[in-house]
Amino acid sequence: MVSFDNTELAFAHQNDSDLKRSKWLFQMMGNTMMLKFGLKAMPLAVRWKIPFTNQIIRNTIFKQFVGGESLQETKDVVDKLARHKVKVILDYGAEGAGSEESLDHACAEFIKVIDYASSQENIPFISIKVTGIARFNLLEVLHEKMNLSEKKSILDKYTDALDMLEAEEKSSWMKSMRRLEDICECAKSKQVSILVDAEETWIQDPVDAITIMMMMKHNQVKAIVYNTVQLYRHDRYDFLYESYLHAKENNYLPGFKLVRGAYMEKERARAFSNNYPSPIQPDKTATDNDYNRSIKFVLEHVDEIATIIATHNESSNMLVCQLMKEKNLSANHPHIHFSQLYGMSDNITFNLAHHGFSVSKYLPFGPIHEVIPYLLRRAQENSSVSGLTGRELALIEKEWTRRKSKS
Ligand SMILES: Cc1cc2nc3c(=O)[nH]c(=O)nc-3n(C[C@H](O)[C@H](O)[C@H](O)COP(=O)(O)OP(=O)(O)OC[C@H]3O[C@@H](n4cnc5c(N)ncnc54)[C@H](O)[C@@H]3O)c2cc1C
Repeated sequence: MVSFDNTELAFAHQNDSDLKRSKWLFQMMGNTMMLKFGLKAMPLAVRWKIPFTNQIIRNTIFKQFVGGESLQETKDVVDKLARHKVKVILDYGAEGAGSEESLDHACAEFIKVIDYASSQENIPFISIKVTGIARFNLLEVLHEKMNLSEKKSILDKYTDALDMLEAEEKSSWMKSMRRLEDICECAKSKQVSILVDAEETWIQDPVDAITIMMMMKHNQVKAIVYNTVQLYRHDRYDFLYESYLHAKENNYLPGFKLVRGAYMEKERARAFSNNYPSPIQPDKTATDNDYNRSIKFVLEHVDEIATIIATHNESSNMLVCQLMKEKNLSANHPHIHFSQLYGMSDNITFNLAHHGFSVSKYLPFGPIHEVIPYLLRRAQENSSVSGLTGRELALIEKEWTRRKSKS
């Protein structure tokens, strides 16, 4: 049975100097003062173009969590992961661009990423953020209008909301839909799957609606399009169930990426300041319960649902392994895939890969100034408050001690 304690396997892809860098970085992120300073200083230093900023970021946090500044630069990391039987979800880090030109540019980049992925054996997926190809404020307007509709189904609400848009909004939205169509059509023709990331709740309804539409259109034989379900939301287990029923009724294979969710503080703060009930679960146990309930659900319907278990939580990953064993599913079942972010939880990824499970690293790339929001989220997630730093550090130190005792 797989175990996540083998640090020799977990860090075999890192030489001593890589390991030392990781150790130093996790120590820094675990230091509250340093972290607070870094979170404030990093975006400002990049914006003000302070000398050596990019170089320092490139050799530290960027190297830990990002594959490179361009698609070509990811090759070394992709090849290194392939040697350890680890696949890649390639993520072009465009988030929240403003003008139509920058949205067109992001769409063209996504298509290049799909082309590239189709040429590499270990890149079966790419991820996209709808905020990379649609204006954030327009998504917000659509979300609000969907919530004015009295219809029950999410797709009917979406149709009603489209009718409520102003002419200029509608024209901009149609361009975004064209971009999404182009991306999905290219993905289908190249047989690369698209994972649509989940973002803030106040833009998520249109994101869900168009992702469901794309699944209906493209997921006839294989899951080309996957939606993301954030189980830190108290309404998402029901959403998962309803999405499954919709797929069954409409005869397509739904794809779901199961995550807990990355925007908890922001969600709670907005709900508090705008005086509406928080969409987030009351506590971590409630999130864990719904995450694990979702795992059981998708595994009960494994022939009808394709799933990506996207988590660093050891118990959730272990639960999937146990259920797969109980159900006699092969480790590399085509409908079950595991994934962790590049630079985190190598003990889970590389031990799963060693035992034959289908597993990937989520690998973002992009120019430093464009991946700053992603890096800030990683630094926050690895703060001393989250407890994750302690786990990563303990594993790195264990491996360091093991290597030194051998030399
Ligand atoms: C491959 C991959 C893809 C991802 N894609 C997305 C995405 O598209 N959208 C997205 O939002 N996130 C995404 N994430 C991030 C993910 O949502 C989590 O933030 C992150 O993985 C930490 O959760 P965990 O399950 O790994 O671990 P854990 O450490 O077990 O869980 C931490 C998470 O639990 C939840 N939590 C913590 N405290 C509480 C509390 N008091 N009350 C309620 N809930 C709490 C939060 O979601 C927190 O992030 C992705 C992660 C991976 C690995």
